[in-house]
Amino acid sequence: MDDDLATRILVSESLEQAGFYIEQAEDGRQALTIYERNNIDLITLDVVMPELDGFATCVELRRRPEGAQVPILMMTGLDDYESINQAFKAGATDFITKPINFILLEYRVRYLLRASADVASLHESERRLTTAQRIARLGYWDWSQGQNLLRLSREVCEMLGLDPQTSEFPFWVILNHVHEKDRNFVDQWVDEIWQGGKSRAISHRLIDANGNVRYVQQQVEAVLDAFGNPSHLYGTLQDITELRRAEERIWQLAFTDSLTRLPNRELFKDRLDTALKLAKRRNSQLALLFLDLDNFKRINDTLGHGVGDLLLQATAERLKLSVRANDSVSRNEAEEQDESIARLGGDEFTVLLPDIQHSADAAIVAERIQASLSQPLTLSGHEVFITPSIGIAVFPQDGEDPDTLIKNADLAMYFAKHQGRNLYQFYDATLNEAAHKRLTMENQLRKAIERNELSLYYQPQLDLPSGRICGVEALARWTNDLLGTVPPLEFIPLAEETGLIIPIGEWVLRTACQQAKAWQVTGIGVARMAVNISALQFIQPRFAEWVMQILEETGLEPMMLELEITESLLMKDPEGASHTLQTLKNLGVQLAIDDFGTGYSNLSRLKQLPLDRLKIDEVFVREINLQPSNAAIATAVIAMAESMGLQVIAEGVENEAQLHFLKAKHCNEIQGYYLSWPLPAAEITAMLRNLPALHEEDG
Ligand code: C2E
Ligand code: MG
Ligand code: MG
Repeated sequence: MDDDLATRILVSESLEQAGFYIEQAEDGRQALTIYERNNIDLITLDVVMPELDGFATCVELRRRPEGAQVPILMMTGLDDYESINQAFKAGATDFITKPINFILLEYRVRYLLRASADVASLHESERRLTTAQRIARLGYWDWSQGQNLLRLSREVCEMLGLDPQTSEFPFWVILNHVHEKDRNFVDQWVDEIWQGGKSRAISHRLIDANGNVRYVQQQVEAVLDAFGNPSHLYGTLQDITELRRAEERIWQLAFTDSLTRLPNRELFKDRLDTALKLAKRRNSQLALLFLDLDNFKRINDTLGHGVGDLLLQATAERLKLSVRANDSVSRNEAEEQDESIARLGGDEFTVLLPDIQHSADAAIVAERIQASLSQPLTLSGHEVFITPSIGIAVFPQDGEDPDTLIKNADLAMYFAKHQGRNLYQFYDATLNEAAHKRLTMENQLRKAIERNELSLYYQPQLDLPSGRICGVEALARWTNDLLGTVPPLEFIPLAEETGLIIPIGEWVLRTACQQAKAWQVTGIGVARMAVNISALQFIQPRFAEWVMQILEETGLEPMMLELEITESLLMKDPEGASHTLQTLKNLGVQLAIDDFGTGYSNLSRLKQLPLDRLKIDEVFVREINLQPSNAAIATAVIAMAESMGLQVIAEGVENEAQLHFLKAKHCNEIQGYYLSWPLPAAEITAMLRNLPALHEEDG
C-alpha cells in the first residue's frame, strides 16, 4: 500500500518477479477492504498517506482478530527514527527504509513470511496443548531456585480464583488454597523436593475460587544444576475431583450404611482391627459397645418401616452426641469420633472406644447412651419410646481380634437383654460353658432367617406295594459361621423354647410348599410334601388359616401337603387339637402322627381324629429283625393302623432286612437311609428326575 503510484509499481514489479502475487492499494481504507476480501500473507505499508495514514492502518489491522498475526512491513524515510519507533508501537513487524533496495526487500519479505509461518505453527501447537490440558483438567507451574514467585498456568489461576493476568504468585498464596488438613503435608513435599529429595506425586485437596473442595494430583520434575541441586521445578496439577468423587461414591456404597451414613460391618471391622493393633503397641485398653434397640421390631411392625427408618437415623445421631465426650471438641475430633460408630445391620449398632483407662470408662459411655436414647422421640407425629440393651467387651481380656470382640460384646448384649431391658452388661468369660453356648446359639438363631442360614433337605418316602416314591419329608438344616452346622435336634427345641419356631416354621412351610409347587410345574411327580409342625405352632389361634394362606400364596393344592405332628401335642389339649385337625382336614391337607409309639396315645381318642398316617418311630425299626419287642410293637402298630383305616410309614429304615420285615407285615411305606439320606433341593431334584430309569432297572 502506497499513495505514490511509482513506488507501488516498483514494489509490485519486483516482488511479482520474485514469484509473489500482489494486490495494490492507494490508501488505508482501500487497503483494509482488500485485506478483508483476500487471503493476505504479508502487508507492506507506507507511512505517509492521505486520510488513514500507515500507523493508523496498522493499528486498525491489528485490531482485527485475523489481522493480529499477519506480518506488516512499514516503509519509512531513512533516519526517520520517530517513524520507526511509532511503527513498532502501532504493531508493525519490521520496517524498511526508503529509497527501497529491491533486492533487500525481496529477502525481507521472504524472511518475514518464514518467521510468520513459524509463529503460526507455534500458536497452533500452543492452542492444541491448551485444549488438551483443558480437557485433562491439567494445569502447570514452574518455580526457580531462590525466587519467591511461581509462574502458574491460566488453568491453575482460574481454579484458584487468582488473576490470570498476573500469573506469578508467591508460594504462600497457593498454599493458602490448600485444604487446611493437607497444608503441612504439601509444604513438606515441596521442601523435600527442593532439598533434593525424590520427586514423588501427591494428591491433596484444594479450596477453589468458589470455596468448594477439589481434589488435585501434583507431579513435579526438578532440573538440577551443575552440583546436582535442584535449580528449577516444573510441576503439573491435575484436577481429579470427579474421579475422586466417583471413587468416594463407590467406597460409600461398599462401606457405609445408606440409611444412617454410618460405617457398616466391613468398615467397622477394619477400623477395629487398626485400633487393636495400636492398642497392642501402646499396651492400652480398648472397649467395644454392642447395642441393640429393645422392641425395635414392634415399632417397625406397628408404625411402619418409614418410622422405623427415622428411628434408626435418630439413634445414629443420638449415638454421635453421646459418644462425644464434651461439646467443646473440634470439628475434626468430632468427625473422628463419629467414625467410631457403626451400624452392623437391623437395629444393631457398635461403638468403639479406642483408648480407655479402666473398664468403668466404657460403663460411663454406656450410661450416657442409655440416658440419651431413652428420651422420647417424635417421629412423623408419633411419640416413640425406645431403650437400648448394651453389651461391652474389653481388649485385651475379652478378646484380641475383631471377630472375638464383636462376638463377645454381642453375647454380653444378649445377656443384658435376657436380664431385662435397658441394661448394659460386661462380657463375662466365667459364664459357664453351657449357658454360654446356649446364649450364643440363641443369639445366632435369632438372625438365622435374615442371614439366610437355614435350608431344607428332603428325604424321599417309598410306597412299598408299587415301589414308587410317594412323597418327601422336609427337614430343616442350619449352618452358621460361628457354630458350624447345628443339627435340628439341637436348634428346634431351642427355637420352641424361645418362640423362634414361629418365624422359622413359617419359613419352612413356605419354602417346602414353594418347592413342591416347583416340582409339580416342572413335571416331577411327587405326590406329597411332609412338613414337621411344632406344638407351639399348632396351638396358635389361627393355625389352620395360616396354613391355608401359605397354600394360597404358593399355589400348592392342599392334598399335596402333609403336616407331621407329634403324639404328645394331641394329649395336651385333645379338644382344641381335634378342632384344629378337623379344620385342616376340611381344607384337604393330609395329617400324620410323627414318632409314633414314643408317646402315650389314648388309642380310642386317636380313632376319633381325622388322621391319614402314622409314622413308626425310628427306635422301633432300628433292630426290628433282632429285638423281639421292637418287632412286636411294629407289627402291632401296623395291624392297629390297618384296623383304623390309617396308613403306616416306617422311619429310619437302614437295611434290606428291615425292609423285608416291614414288607412282610404289610407296612405301606418306608423312609430311611436305605433308600436315601435327606438331600438338598438340587440333589433330590436330580434324583427324582432320574426316577423312571431307576424303576426300569429295578424291573
Ligand atoms: P423326624 O421328623 O422324626 O425326622 C426324621 C429324622 O430321622 C431326621 O432327622 C432324619 O434325618 C432322620 N433319619 C432319616 N433316615 C434315617 C435312618 O435311616 N436312620 C436314622 N437313625 N435316622 C434317620 P433330623 O433331620 O436330624 O431331624 C430331627 C428332628 O428334628 C425331626 O425328626 C423333627 O422332629 C425335627 N425337625 C426337623 N426339621 C424340622 C422342622 O422344619 N420343623 C420342626 N418343627 N421340626 C423339625
Ligand atoms: Mg418328621
Ligand atoms: Mg420321626
